[in-house]
Amino acid sequence: MQSTETYRCDGCGTTYQVAGEGEPTVLCSECDQVASPHGDAAAGREYRVGHVKYIEGRRRTTEALGRFESGQTTLARGGFDDAASEFEDSVDRFTAAVARADSEPVREDCERARKKATCLWQAVEWLGGATYASEQGDTDRATRYREDAQQRLRAAKAYDDLVAPEALTD
Ligand SMILES: [Zn+2]
Repeated sequence: MQSTETYRCDGCGTTYQVAGEGEPTVLCSECDQVASPHGDAAAGREYRVGHVKYIEGRRRTTEALGRFESGQTTLARGGFDDAASEFEDSVDRFTAAVARADSEPVREDCERARKKATCLWQAVEWLGGATYASEQGDTDRATRYREDAQQRLRAAKAYDDLVAPEALTD
């Protein structure tokens, strides 16, 4: 039994059935653009990677917040930068997952993950700005940035927790 995978053109939306292993580059014969794997299984693969990045982003955020609280401002800034990069990657993966999803429930779970990760990404960007303002001795600005970060953190919280990758396509 050979497995087939559905690919869909990123340009015109034409779908192709591709047999075999791996992820070959599929060019659309209609418009010469690249076709990407399409379907809930393909969405799940993107989601799984995005979820790992997301968890790592959260871990680094918690760590950096602790450093910020204890006055280790420079270390905290590095931590928020690292967290921002993890969240950025996770948003990219979740965005790809949304585009690949075939069924509505899977698409909704991926979309929620994308929105929640985006809020957290914005929050750590503000927190990074707050650490920088603190280092410059600009406490007003630091306070304002922290408030902006808090607002984004509350927005993130309003979204339900992310579905575990194993449960996404159940
Ligand atoms: Zn095409």
